[in-house]
Amino acid sequence: MSDSNITTIPHVINGMATTGTSTRRQNVTNPATGAVTGSVCLANSADVDAAVAAAKAAFPAWSNTPPLRRARVMFKFLELLNQRRDDLARIITAEHGKVFTDAQGEVARGIDIVEFATGIPQLLKGDYTEQVATGIDNWTLRQPLGVVAGITPFNFPVMVPMWMFPVAIAAGNTFILKPSPTDPTPSLMMADLLKQAGLPDGVFNVVQGDKEAVDALLEHPDVKAVSFVGSTPIANYIYETGAHHGKRVQALGGAKNHMVVMPDADLEQSLDALIGAAYGSAGERCMAISVAVLVGDVADKIMPKLIERTRALKVLNGENLAAEMGPIVTQQAHERITDYIAQGESEGAKLLVDGRGFQAAQAGAGCEQGFWMGGTLFDHVTTDMRIYKEEIFGPVLACVRVPDFATAVQIINDHEFGNGVSCFTRDGNVAREFSRRIQVGMVGINVPIPVPMAWHGFGGWKRSLFGDMHAYGEEGVRFYTRQKS
Ligand code: NAD
Repeated sequence: MSDSNITTIPHVINGMATTGTSTRRQNVTNPATGAVTGSVCLANSADVDAAVAAAKAAFPAWSNTPPLRRARVMFKFLELLNQRRDDLARIITAEHGKVFTDAQGEVARGIDIVEFATGIPQLLKGDYTEQVATGIDNWTLRQPLGVVAGITPFNFPVMVPMWMFPVAIAAGNTFILKPSPTDPTPSLMMADLLKQAGLPDGVFNVVQGDKEAVDALLEHPDVKAVSFVGSTPIANYIYETGAHHGKRVQALGGAKNHMVVMPDADLEQSLDALIGAAYGSAGERCMAISVAVLVGDVADKIMPKLIERTRALKVLNGENLAAEMGPIVTQQAHERITDYIAQGESEGAKLLVDGRGFQAAQAGAGCEQGFWMGGTLFDHVTTDMRIYKEEIFGPVLACVRVPDFATAVQIINDHEFGNGVSCFTRDGNVAREFSRRIQVGMVGINVPIPVPMAWHGFGGWKRSLFGDMHAYGEEGVRFYTRQKS
């Protein structure tokens, strides 16, 4: 290593850190400063084979371990996580860029799932019917699948893996995590804490990498199931390729989440929700609100304050506790978002606040080379525009004006994505009809971002989810087990 400030980020296979046999590497960058802080190993198929072999060897003993003992490992992991939660959040901020309080929130939501997974003995209880025919009883139980893999995106490097591995492991499977190479370091801390919690070697492995590692996992005959979270084109590819190779697959994809504001809504509350949900984590959340659907006269009433609040966003280095929004994750993502803003202008949307004007130095000392922009606000966006149809995944809010509730529901139902949606209203009937008619997987009323709790399960509809089972919750348990009668 020529630069001593750059850390090599290894795989973890069979309880040991290893750089594997591949010599390919990718730089890891602090998006706030633009500084290269790490060099992550990119696995080849031999590295993946080694991880799968370790997971396969660990499976018989782990799946035979009583669920209560597996749960005790999860309890210990939970305790260690609680001790180290701020350290984990700091790593997230350093590699992802999101503000520290947001990173703390991410860790907290991941911990929720670990808590859920500690209940695995109850969740694995079978069904029993006595005397289905004379002298014959029938019972049903669920058994783990074997080696399962999780492929995760950059935007939640702790929470999204925790949607997967706590449930998979507690259910008796062995696991291979393939994190995003953009922010790979939190995976090492999670592996370390699991080991300290007493998890046997080989039960949880980390393979760092890119498409090469993913393809090796998808094609490997000993990998029984794949959970994926990421963008829609890749989710589609994972689903088709995994299924082609005989695997069970759940692949969660991209999003374009709408927030409807009805004329009777509490406008102050709606405004707060829009600002937090559109610009929090720089819009790099699969549940970010990227479209405000303003019904009737709402747009005229809310727009002046929306402009003011967007301009006033505190865009600062995420380590600064005053920050409301941090940098964009990479230079490449910054360029993609900038291109979308130019596209919106050329399509004829009204650009009210232009985040491209933000000067990196405003974010704090040392941020001059970081990937910075401010919040962007468009009004008079129409449903034929690319900035409406496509996922931008950045701090860009598109406002669409519609005359009535029926049109609001119609445009959302016509959209190709169906991850999350929210409606602000004080009318109980509108709230009920909205929840019932909307064709979106996760629906919130008077909440900015409808993220289901650990025991409910998470997943969108339409091109936001490929497969039929949601992540975590009882569907997660079903995904990682199969029924025997
Ligand atoms: P991405 O699709 O680029 O990458 C996701 C994972 O797939 C990473 O591990 C990556 O290494 C791997 N990958 C990338 N290209 C690949 C290829 N060609 N073949 C095989 N594997 C490949 O997504 P991202 O940019 O890391 O994350 C942002 C995306 O994730 C957004 O679209 C966001 O909406 C989505 N997301 C969805 C949810 C959800 O619950 N639906 C949650 C979080 C993020």
